[in-house]
Amino acid sequence: MKSVYEDVIKRDPNQPEFHQAVEEVLDSLSPVIKLHPEYLPVVRSIVEAERIIQFKVPWYDDNGVLHVNRGFRIQMNSAIGPYKGGLRFHHSVNQSILKFLAFEQVFKNSLTGLPMGGGKGGSDFNPKGKSDQEVMRFCQSFMMELFRHIGENLDVPAGDIGVGGREIGYLFGMYKKLANEFTGILTGKGPSYGGSLIRPEATGYGLVYFAKEMLSTKNKSFEGAKCSISGSGNVAQFAAEKVIDLGGKVVTMSDSSGWIYDPAGIDREKLAWIMDLKNIHRGRISEYADKFTGSSFTKSEPEPSLNGLWAVNVDVALPCATQNEINAEEAKMLAANNVIAVAEGANMPCTPEAVGVFHQYGILFAPGKASNAGGVATSGLEMSQNSLRLSWSREEVDDRLQKIMIDIHKNAFDTAKKYGLPGDYVAGANIAGFLKVAEAMTAQGLI
Ligand code: NDP
Repeated sequence: MKSVYEDVIKRDPNQPEFHQAVEEVLDSLSPVIKLHPEYLPVVRSIVEAERIIQFKVPWYDDNGVLHVNRGFRIQMNSAIGPYKGGLRFHHSVNQSILKFLAFEQVFKNSLTGLPMGGGKGGSDFNPKGKSDQEVMRFCQSFMMELFRHIGENLDVPAGDIGVGGREIGYLFGMYKKLANEFTGILTGKGPSYGGSLIRPEATGYGLVYFAKEMLSTKNKSFEGAKCSISGSGNVAQFAAEKVIDLGGKVVTMSDSSGWIYDPAGIDREKLAWIMDLKNIHRGRISEYADKFTGSSFTKSEPEPSLNGLWAVNVDVALPCATQNEINAEEAKMLAANNVIAVAEGANMPCTPEAVGVFHQYGILFAPGKASNAGGVATSGLEMSQNSLRLSWSREEVDDRLQKIMIDIHKNAFDTAKKYGLPGDYVAGANIAGFLKVAEAMTAQGLI
């Protein structure tokens, strides 16, 4: 296993996020390889992307000035189904970040029990501060190249940071024009053109359904629990909504400029105001503190450090912004406050050292590939509805989502126990996700 990791570093020495994601998985897989040495070649193969596409995305701003961004699609693994995974538009996007996300996606998609391989893509384009027209021109130019590499049986992208309903709409419109057909090529679409109900809510809701299962292993629940959430985008908003539904109290949220603390709790009304602020007016979270008395705003620098958000005394912490936002020091602050559970809404928001602290203090910890899998699972349900040319009701999709999250929790929990690591959701999720893909790859001849 060590040699696999060394080869990964040797091949791509400048990809720290990808190394971090690979190292975590390889650490978990040692007991599997002891039991199944025949899977070692699979490990060697699974760390290499099947295909990486990089392309130029030229677009004109409202003043007629040309900008040139970089677009990517990482088609990581298609052993159990077509590539599936989001598109991220953020100035920090590069191959290392997208490869880490695509790699995680392989295991996550396997855990959902649905037939989806792993992929990820995006661009270093930053939609923040751009007009709708500029975002539209960018999305159209991006799809002008991407369309030849995707397909409903090949690769079905979705949203991620910076890619919400607006961007998916523009991307879908351009795909339809270029391909001259109406197919379920993207998920996260609007309900009027093939989108699934509950897809926007799914990652946040699914996260809380998963955390609820974790808490129940300690005979605890969200009722009366204090909860810190980072981020104020798609995942954070709907995680907050579901925590409130279940009787919990959300006291923090953030964006890349800083974080807010509201000791009285962010109730439904305040959350609706945040959704309006972030989704319609595209404003900054600092405005919350001006609007609601008794709350405060703390500026964060440098991103993504949240400088103190994790020092707030809570029972449950849900990091929902971006990678590496909780380090060991911040994990110790959570431990000092006797946090019961930490569940990742974002992908890899906790550093390996932070995860070590959670394990050391016996804090329940769920890795994103298990706890945030509700989004891609519901994307899978959107694909099924598109194929059937049917739309399921909110209740039907939500019921399926809840069942999937309960199953993922059980699978990760039981697998960890079986391999002698009870309560270790990281090992449980990595091993369970790996075994299905490894079996499929072996059966197909490791080509
Ligand atoms: P959004 O773009 O809707 O929201 C992201 C939030 O995180 C915003 O509040 C943003 O602040 C903040 N943020 C982003 N980057 C940074 C940074 N570098 N430092 C501090 N804050 C930051 O994205 P999503 O909610 O969709 O995604 C959040 C996380 O969840 C990501 O890790 C994503 O990969 C993961 N995820 C998303 C899924 C989905 O279905 N959307 C599915 C599974 C995982 P600002 O507004 O200032 O940019």
